[in-house]
Amino acid sequence: MSTAYISHADCRRHEMGAGHPECPQRLDAIEDWLIGTGLDVALQRFDASNASPQALERAHSSAYIAHIRDLLEGLAASGETRAIDPDTIANPYTWSAALKAAGAAVQATDLVLDGRVENAFCAVRPPGHHATRDQAMGFCFFNNVAVAARHALDVRGLKRVAVVDFDVHHGNGTEDILAGDDRVLMVSIFQHPLYPFSGAVPKGENMVNVPVPPYTKGGEVRELIEAMWMPALERFKPEMIFISAGFDAHREDDLGQLGLTEADYEWITLRLQDVARRHAKGRIVSCLEGGYHLDALARSVGAHLRVLAGV
Ligand SMILES: [Zn+2]
Repeated sequence: MSTAYISHADCRRHEMGAGHPECPQRLDAIEDWLIGTGLDVALQRFDASNASPQALERAHSSAYIAHIRDLLEGLAASGETRAIDPDTIANPYTWSAALKAAGAAVQATDLVLDGRVENAFCAVRPPGHHATRDQAMGFCFFNNVAVAARHALDVRGLKRVAVVDFDVHHGNGTEDILAGDDRVLMVSIFQHPLYPFSGAVPKGENMVNVPVPPYTKGGEVRELIEAMWMPALERFKPEMIFISAGFDAHREDDLGQLGLTEADYEWITLRLQDVARRHAKGRIVSCLEGGYHLDALARSVGAHLRVLAGV
């Protein structure tokens, strides 16, 4: 069994302007690290395909999908750029990139459920966990992980899936979409207060939210994960685990003030892999969310992928 690595050239063409931290170079940094460390030979590469309208509708309203499609297809035709909010900017390639990012997550789910690989990592942008059912925000357009989780449940017939989010920012979009869906357990840990300033009070009984103050270090994060996530995951016995893999809680990342290191990402991935192997036949689909210090991002994704690939 192996690990799929799913990406697409269009995910590099979506750009939000000079100096924007969510930049195409993030994917280059990851690629360079994988090649430089030889880790790439342990991965099975796939080109992402587009998410279908039906796949998107499992997580987003038809009105939102129609609105964002008209807007982004318009930019693709005119060659213009448009700010959705002060942080979230669309260029002529954003439509294609957003479809590939969500499509990669669906494709990863199918590859894993078909037994072609044990687990999969989607090296995609735009990220997804801030995109709500009806709104693009926080660098996100479609909620890649929520689209994939609903595909696993509604199309592939799974009964229980877990969504794990360790990005430094609260995954408000994923919570908005999946709160109250008792086929899903979502566990997350995030800095609070920090953008988008939500999450302190969970929106549903299927949400295990662990807000932590700025300057929390890896040891404390591990203790909280052990105490808060693990018992909930054990009780829930997920048949598959989806990870919103943001690496901006790294101590070198300036978008948050948490103190995680590569070793912490390795530890978290090992803990999740242990749950997945006992309850879910090892099935994990991990999607890139944040992570803006290019070197720290590359090293952290490397640590995450080494565990997933078992090398
Ligand atoms: Zn983030």
